[in-house]
Amino acid sequence: MSPRYSIVLPIYNEEANLPELYRRLSQVINYLDGDAEILFVDDGSRDRSLSLIRDLHHRDPRICYLSFARNFGHQIAVTAGLNFARGDAIVVMDSDLQDPPELIPKMAERWQCGFHVVYAQRNQRHRESWFKRLMAYGFYRVLRHLADVEIPTDTGDFCLMDRRVVDLLNAMPERNRYIRGLRAWVGFRQTAILFDRDPRFAGPVKYTFRKSLGLAINGLVSFSRVPLRLSTYLGLVAAAIALLMAILVVYWRLFSPNSPLTGYATIVIVVFFLGAVQLISIGILGEYIGRIYEEIKGRPLYTLAEVGGFQEVNRCTLS
Ligand code: UDP
Ligand code: MG
Repeated sequence: MSPRYSIVLPIYNEEANLPELYRRLSQVINYLDGDAEILFVDDGSRDRSLSLIRDLHHRDPRICYLSFARNFGHQIAVTAGLNFARGDAIVVMDSDLQDPPELIPKMAERWQCGFHVVYAQRNQRHRESWFKRLMAYGFYRVLRHLADVEIPTDTGDFCLMDRRVVDLLNAMPERNRYIRGLRAWVGFRQTAILFDRDPRFAGPVKYTFRKSLGLAINGLVSFSRVPLRLSTYLGLVAAAIALLMAILVVYWRLFSPNSPLTGYATIVIVVFFLGAVQLISIGILGEYIGRIYEEIKGRPLYTLAEVGGFQEVNRCTLS
């Protein structure tokens, strides 16, 4: 019989967090109103995470796991977890204890009240660098203004979703998965729970600046066409400036004998300005075309090297 709850946890080099994570999680799920499975998704860790997970799996039958053949990234790890989770309600959370497991019963309560998505919204970010806080603050607000759907600000992937929502997410064919956006796109009854985000329990951050930037661009491009329009606007502004200058030049030539048209500085500036506008536009276009390319290649989203606790063990890849 399928469990009532699934907890999906992406793991990338989290050996220092796993024992404490398991301790706190198992305390919490003992008090839930139904049985729960803990689903670890090892995203190609290079430390002892996988062997720790294997040990836990042998000790505790509620634990199952997937292990990727290489590092595919956080969003893909969550996607795989959602593909395999069997619960009626599925919780997604980080494995560094920044998302407190103690919030799960509260989420479950809301779910029982009839909400399909209960997402955790951050009150405060403890001890994250001011740079990261500033970037996150700015990004979520820009995204809210530009996105086609309303994506709540200051929410990560920490949430509880009803089986119906997860089935819909699983049925979405897109490869660029910005899960907090897709989750908002689905609709249904959604609600927030506010929480203070704790600092990482142990180990270094796994989301490098590059990965965070990639995720941000992904979110923007997947949920908004405004950047494309922006390049049109940039082109229009550049055209207007050029026209104005042309008029000025003609005026100076015809009517002012000592025209200020000396040297080539203006020409150089204009050339650079136009070059910049064109490159930006091509770059934006490229982002979208690149995404189309990703989508049509149709490769599987991940490759599985090892699976524990599932019957259909020989499902080596999934698309
Ligand atoms: N993670 C992952 N694959 C990656 C990077 C991160 O599965 O390539 C996991 C990581 O183990 C953690 C979660 O994603 O459970 C969030 O990562 P992290 O805490 O480093 O990021 P942040 O707290 O900055 O969002
Ligand atoms: Mg973290």
